[in-house]
Amino acid sequence: MSVFHDEVEIEDFEYDEETETYSYPCPCGDRFLITREDLENGEDVATCPSCSLILRVIYDQQNSYHRSHNGRPDLGPLLQEGVSISWTN
Ligand SMILES: [Zn+2]
Repeated sequence: MSVFHDEVEIEDFEYDEETETYSYPCPCGDRFLITREDLENGEDVATCPSCSLILRVIYDQQNSYHRSHNGRPDLGPLLQEGVSISWTN
């Protein structure tokens, strides 16, 4: 098994709309690459085409656009839902 060089949040990747590919600088001078399709398929490993390093991509498949940064990403939305339900009754 390979060892991950690092773990990086998808937000820190650079996105190319033309190729639908996320990229992140590799220490070798090239870039780690992972496509949007890979992410949608549950793939979370970005690879560098020029060396053997691999990168783990940190992302939330279900809620990647409105991700909370308070360290409790799952709790906030649930609590909000509970509040709105109790108020509509
Ligand atoms: Zn590299």
